[in-house]
Amino acid sequence: MQRRITAPREALAELREDFSLCGKCKLCQGVMAQQCDDPRFWRNCPSGSRFRYEAYYAPGKMEIARCLDLVEIEPDEMMQHSVYTCMLCGSCDDRCYPVKQLHPLWVIQLLREQAIADEWAPLDYFAGMIENMEKTDNPYGVTADKRVAWAKGMDIKDALKEKVEWLLFVGDDYSSFKQLTGRIQAVAKVLSAAGVDFGTLGKEEVSSGSALLLIGDRDFFETFANANLDLFEKAGATKIVTADCHAYSVINEEYTKAAELEVVSFPEMAAALIKDGKLKPSAPVKMKAAYHDPCRLGRRSGIFDEPREVLGAIPGLELVEFERARKNALCCGGGGSVFFWEPEFARWVTNERLFEAEHVGAEAIITACPICVRMFEDAIAEKKSDMKVYDLAEILEKAL
Ligand code: SF4
Ligand code: SF4
Repeated sequence: MQRRITAPREALAELREDFSLCGKCKLCQGVMAQQCDDPRFWRNCPSGSRFRYEAYYAPGKMEIARCLDLVEIEPDEMMQHSVYTCMLCGSCDDRCYPVKQLHPLWVIQLLREQAIADEWAPLDYFAGMIENMEKTDNPYGVTADKRVAWAKGMDIKDALKEKVEWLLFVGDDYSSFKQLTGRIQAVAKVLSAAGVDFGTLGKEEVSSGSALLLIGDRDFFETFANANLDLFEKAGATKIVTADCHAYSVINEEYTKAAELEVVSFPEMAAALIKDGKLKPSAPVKMKAAYHDPCRLGRRSGIFDEPREVLGAIPGLELVEFERARKNALCCGGGGSVFFWEPEFARWVTNERLFEAEHVGAEAIITACPICVRMFEDAIAEKKSDMKVYDLAEILEKAL
């Protein structure tokens, strides 16, 4: 079979204008201050805020790219750490591009792809994840039999056996972690309640490949993208819905370069179903909650309003905003595949976000990403905090 290539392959050198023109103005190190009242929350780059050296902020990484391009320096451990503790949250890109028209996020992503190509990526730290992908098609080492356990007794259609209108792509996290079982079940229950004709790929679904692309391993990522694309074709599926926003972003940005697909995130679909009167949230869900914008869904994909529309339709729910909300949102700590290497740093970022949720008086955090749910829940358990975490789908299911 001829190999399909997903997004056009770019080389770091193609972004020479970007990393050469970075003026080290440091605009990208903080939030849009006009939209954030409290200076306590003005910093927004997780790796820079934690490690403090310039190399950990976007302009430092732009300088690393420039020096590597001019062969002024050799990669070393500090460089590895700077490049691979970036959460790829995109906050720097969102600040820089409107003013300077530069793309620090793409420079950092391509720095990682260059690191893999030139063999200076710290792959030892990701060896467990890579081995899991080789052996189980899943970054966490969960086998296909176990990945479908959540669907037991749920009467979900097998899209490879019968034609369905929508293919529900489950994704790595929902299928791998017991703490997310009820959450992905809620997604399926909500779709069923609205009469959506959907099915899954069952045991055949493999990882979206997102974790590999995040570390810069585009070749291995494409193996998984191609395997899923073959399954989509076999199922005759052209309409994909997913609640996994990492899967959403790679399918939307990468897979669609190789196949004609309509890709919809769960919050978008849920908001549309409510608007069309196919879902009527009527049972009160009494809580004061802050909605956390996942980086991949919000900044990366521009989906800010739909989750809020869903939550706004739920009676009894008092929605408060984080100081850093929408484009200003802080990463949950789960971005960039960093937690595979630096779990303590990832936890530090999650704790910072938890502090912010408490600061705005929220009793609960609602989000729309399975990685965010895990990161928050694990940090809360460690802190023995009273904060609660909900997936958007489970809150909506409660209200139906
Ligand atoms: S990346 Fe952009 S915003 Fe950041 S220092 Fe460079 S030019 Fe300024
Ligand atoms: S993507 Fe996020 S973590 Fe990485 S340099 Fe930019 S702001 Fe910092």
